[in-house]
Amino acid sequence: MAASFIPPKRILMGPGPSDVPQRILDAMARPTIGHLDPAFVDLMEQIKSMLRMAFQTENALTFPVSAPGSAGMEMCFVNLVEPGDKVIVCRNGVFGGRMLENVKRTGGVPMIVDDAWGAPVDSNKVRDAFKANPDAKILAFVHAETSTGAQSDAATLAKIAQEFGALTIMDCVTSLGGTPVYLDKWGIDAAYSGSQKCLSCTPGLSPVSFSEKAIARIKARTTLVQSWFLDLNLVLGYWQSAGKRTYHHTAPINPMYGLHEALVILEEEGLENAWARHRAMHEKLKAGLEGMGLKYVVDAPARLPQLNSIYVPEGVDEAAIRARLLTEFNLEIGAGLGDMAGKIWRIGLMGYSAKQENVDYCLKALRACLPGGPA
Ligand SMILES: *Cc1c(COP(=O)(O)O)cnc(C)c1O
Repeated sequence: MAASFIPPKRILMGPGPSDVPQRILDAMARPTIGHLDPAFVDLMEQIKSMLRMAFQTENALTFPVSAPGSAGMEMCFVNLVEPGDKVIVCRNGVFGGRMLENVKRTGGVPMIVDDAWGAPVDSNKVRDAFKANPDAKILAFVHAETSTGAQSDAATLAKIAQEFGALTIMDCVTSLGGTPVYLDKWGIDAAYSGSQKCLSCTPGLSPVSFSEKAIARIKARTTLVQSWFLDLNLVLGYWQSAGKRTYHHTAPINPMYGLHEALVILEEEGLENAWARHRAMHEKLKAGLEGMGLKYVVDAPARLPQLNSIYVPEGVDEAAIRARLLTEFNLEIGAGLGDMAGKIWRIGLMGYSAKQENVDYCLKALRACLPGGPA
């Protein structure tokens, strides 16, 4: 017979999940209630309202999808793309590649704008793509590419899409709560995020937000949304204002308690203070890493404070170092993905993990494990 599972105590400084504060774990351990209970309905209204603060939007349709960030991504594409629609997809890392996979599966016609891994999306290329395809209906891009640590200029990209009358889909899984995200100011039509990155909640929920223009596009569809679970026309009945709620699926009650607590913590700190903290911790980590001779993958202007990707020094077995960090220091950092596998490390400073003691601990552990460091 298996015994209860007791996880090891880790310090999470990879690409997500980030450290979850005890306050959030405590919130999640509270008694489960029914998902149509008026008290739960009230909690959902508060979550929606605090998510609007986090996304900096007035969008009524702002809520957490009951599934991880990848489901938020899929919700945006299956609802907004109809077969035959041209979609300009920016690809400068793993997650742009996943957007492309989504476009293909919805029957959309992708126009790919490629940029090097580690570089931000080049807005000139996006403008050229629209000039060559003025009938493109959607621009899709990743704001914060977690696979490389590069941030793209969302304001400029969204403006180009607006000039050409297209809607925008933005991945802000890693940016939300970590670096400035302004859905309304930038004019983003559909955005999705994740609970386990800079919000420091447990994985499994995907905050999303849709503009009025996006909703009009969805209502004007002539084809059925291919996914029953993610069809916004159906989910809307579940998430609409209190009182009229109908059954669609059973919301993950306790994870919602956790997300609520994470957003309360964000409100207490203040959104702009949270952004400033991520920036300040990044500066400290950077000083330490560069002091050890380690080099950043991304050029300074596009560097994400919450995801520090650095080159593995010549002749160093990167997997062996990560294994030592985990077993001897209980410290998790990320490996490279795709083209960057074996070549880089990704050190996350997301949410609750973005604090001085983690920065100091990570630098100390790396110094001990890298050749030439203390035994
Ligand atoms: C983590 C991540 C996702 C996927 O989120 P999951 O919760 O793992 O499904 C999507 N996009 C980006 C940029 C991410 O960092």
